[in-house]
Amino acid sequence: MKLKSLDSLNYDSFDGESFDYENFDYEVIRSDRKTLSIEVHHNRVKVRAPKKAPDDWIEGFVYQKAKWIARKLVEQAEWHQSRLVLENGQLISVLGKPLVIRVSQGANKITLSDSEFLIRNKDLSPSSIAKQMDRWLLNHAKESLPQKVQAWAEIMGLEKKLSGVRFRKTKIQWGHCTRKGMVQLNQLILLTPLYVIDYLIIHELSHLKHLNHSKRFWGMVESYCPDYKNAEIWLKQQGHSVWY
Ligand SMILES: [Zn+2]
Repeated sequence: MKLKSLDSLNYDSFDGESFDYENFDYEVIRSDRKTLSIEVHHNRVKVRAPKKAPDDWIEGFVYQKAKWIARKLVEQAEWHQSRLVLENGQLISVLGKPLVIRVSQGANKITLSDSEFLIRNKDLSPSSIAKQMDRWLLNHAKESLPQKVQAWAEIMGLEKKLSGVRFRKTKIQWGHCTRKGMVQLNQLILLTPLYVIDYLIIHELSHLKHLNHSKRFWGMVESYCPDYKNAEIWLKQQGHSVWY
């Protein structure tokens, strides 16, 4: 593993766009493969290359992709900055209700008042609070979302097709629906606005009838959720703000 650096590239020369990242380091990982590929994750750039690939070939490839890499780095930095921070004074929205986070030391417990989200934990380290939050979110989702799913299923005439609701915090999905009628939701949706929660439930329930994203599927979503495009926009632009 080698860390190389690509310095002082002038991104403006590509097509007039400019980026905050003037240069970046990248790591070359050589293995039994035939092609080059680039990954940008957690502010790190990795180039996967064949074992005997010449350095200048790799460098040229990185130079060619520099604009894309820079854009990814900026995107990911912005994403990271606007994520949910579980600290005193930060804002959180639970089932559409805006609350101010208060963190204090004490026996582990999360309680909600009219205006505050109170986190009490013996260990105030961010990882301990994140774990506590994970547990609370899962329990709260189990308590409050299945009825909502059931109610929508009845409105949509799909209650017979719905076999159950389960929760999973995955990095790539807000929801999922199985052929057997199981609706899976990401418990983080509790922290999105109410219209987004309704949209995600309607989206997954619509898959009980259409196991695809066909025109008919979207027609069904729209008939129960005329505002669905705004919910999609919210998820795309602000979905990351519920991650902690
Ligand atoms: Zn879908």
